[in-house]
This record gives sequence, structure tokens and C-alpha cells, in this order.
Amino acid sequence: MNDKVFFFDTSLRDGEQSPGCTMHHAEKLRFAHALANLGVDIIEAGFPIASDGDLGSVQAIAREVRGPRIAALARCKLGDIEAAARAVEAAPLNRIHTFLASSDLHLQAKLRITRAQALDQVAQCVALARTHTADVEFSAEDATRSDLDFLLQMIAVAIQAGATTINLPDTVGYSTPAEYRALFETVRTRIKNADSVIFSTHCHDDLGLAVINTLAGVEGGARQVEVSVHGIGERAGNAALEEVAALMHIRHDAYPYTNGLKLDEIGPTSRLLDDIISFTPSPNKAIVGRNAFAHASGIHQHGVLANPLTYEIMSSAAFGVHSNTIVLGKHSGRRALQHRLQELGFTLTPEELNDTYTRFTTLADRKKTLYDQDIIALVAQPA
Ligand code: MN
Repeated sequence: MNDKVFFFDTSLRDGEQSPGCTMHHAEKLRFAHALANLGVDIIEAGFPIASDGDLGSVQAIAREVRGPRIAALARCKLGDIEAAARAVEAAPLNRIHTFLASSDLHLQAKLRITRAQALDQVAQCVALARTHTADVEFSAEDATRSDLDFLLQMIAVAIQAGATTINLPDTVGYSTPAEYRALFETVRTRIKNADSVIFSTHCHDDLGLAVINTLAGVEGGARQVEVSVHGIGERAGNAALEEVAALMHIRHDAYPYTNGLKLDEIGPTSRLLDDIISFTPSPNKAIVGRNAFAHASGIHQHGVLANPLTYEIMSSAAFGVHSNTIVLGKHSGRRALQHRLQELGFTLTPEELNDTYTRFTTLADRKKTLYDQDIIALVAQPA
């Protein structure tokens, strides 16, 4: 089986529809260009039936952004499909992504339709989407809480009607890695012509498993991953693009898959998202958090200055992330202070260093973090 994994970014759709992540037209367009530079394969640009604003943004992205395939989301409704088709028609590579719930809970409580009606709707809407584009994705919403035999029927109907990508979302973040992997293996074994379509993951982080479930799905045979930058998305969010990418890169021995991402564009894309939405990732967030490459304890600082491999499994530069390697504070040792002094242009004798270090620790007990100007003042101060 091919080892190439397609990255489908949904920051502009699942991400944008979550609290604090609303984006204006110009911001969406700017972010879509950044995603193109990052090398994602597919950009889910929005949900055109939701508002005229969303329709306009998807249209602008489809007109202007080149490289990735531009996708628009549509419920399994004729009006939604037509709106999505209009929104992406200007893109040379486009996709209509349509979805319908496959779980009885959703069919009964939300949609109030029977299983038979659901299958008819899927057949009709996927076929309509195919009249507009050769690239149609079908998602069986809430796939992980669906009756397996009915889910298989729905997938078969979607493929029969012309779907080219089949997404099995863990819509509510409920699945475990073993279950999610087995779901893809079972579906790929039991669906006829499974190799004629691409299977896709879409995981939510309600139990903190979005990234590992995504990789489990890939192990089960999925070759598209639906992710978002910083993991923005409904509730606890989606699988974070940067974490899935880092895992495939740093642990390529365990996850031997390839992708088209330019890893060092992760930092610039992350900083642009910081500028656009109303919150930044928590400082301890993997890869993009402010502390992800920072060291504050003296033992760690000493080790990293001697050889970064002692406490770092990857370099911040590989991801285009600014490193904040050594944070000076009360846990720092002489070596970290000496290193920073040298960077600031001071060469001290051992006695001077001892003296400065004593005053440094006194100050650090009062002040939580010491900045360069604090260090310079310490040296300038007569002993
Ligand atoms: Mn979702």
C-alpha cells in the first residue's frame, strides 16, 4: 500500500466554527495562502451554505489560492451541494465534501429520518456532487458510534454513487486508538473496491486522543488525515496538524509514512494563526507552545548547552519555531548564566562570574524571570 498520507486542513472550517476562532474574509484568505505555503494537500475552506460571508470567502480562496485542492463542506442536501459547487468551481483542483450521520442516535434524535431514507439521501447527494466535480468526499458523521453493518451499507452506497474519499470521523472524540485502527481495517476488508477510494480520519480531542487516533487510523489504512493548526475545532478541537506531522517526522521509524508538508513553515503558519484568532496555544503545547523548546532547570540547561540531544528530541528550527532555549530564573546554574553573558558580549573571570552569579540568585529569588537587561545591570553593577 502507498505510504503517502494526504493532509487535509480544516482550520478554516471545523476550526473557524469554534468559539474564539471566527475569522474575517481577509484573514481567511491570508491563512489559506499560508496553508498553501505549508504544503497541505487539501484546504477545507468553509461551509458555503452557512452564510453569504462563508460562501464569499470560499469563492475567493478557490479563485486565488494555488497548490492545494480547495474543498467546501455541504450537508447531504441538494441546496448545500449546489452552494458548495458554486463556491469551489473556480479552483482548478476542487472538492465537494458532503456528510450525513450514520449513527442511529443522530438519525433519530437530530435528523428524524430512517436508515433507508439516509441511504437514499447519500446516493442522491453524492451523485449530484459528482455532476459538479470528479472529486467528492463523503463523511459518515459519528461513524465511531454507528452500527457497523449499517455504516458499511452507507459507505458502499457512497462509493457506488461516485465518492472518491470516504471519511470515518470520530465526531465526538469517543474512540480509542485500537478501536479506530480496527474500524479502518474492517471497513477496508469488507467493502468491495476499497482500494479505489481514499479513506480518511477526522478525530476530536475530547479525551486527548485526537493525534494518536489519527495515527492509528493511518495504521489501519487511512491515507488522508483531517487536521487543523493548533488543533482548533469544535469543543476540545481536532488533531493538531503540527503534532501529527512531527510524529511522522521524528518517529518515522514507528510511523513510516510520507507527506508533502514543508515542516519549517509550521512556525510561520502558527504565528499567523496567533495573530488572527483570539487565543494562543498553551505554553506547554507540543511544537508550537512558548515553552516547547525552553529549559529552565539548571541541570537541563547545563545538558542542553553541552549537547542539545540530552533533553531535546528535535530542533525548533526544523519546524520554523522560535526557540527560547534557556530561560534564566532561580533554577538556572552558573553555566547558563555564563552562556547568556557570552551571548551578550561579556567575558568574565571565574571570580567575576562567581560574584555575578551570587547576585543573580538573590535577584532571581525576587523576580520570577530575568531578562537580558537584568543580566546586563548585574554585570555593570560594581562588586
Ligand atoms: Mn469535526
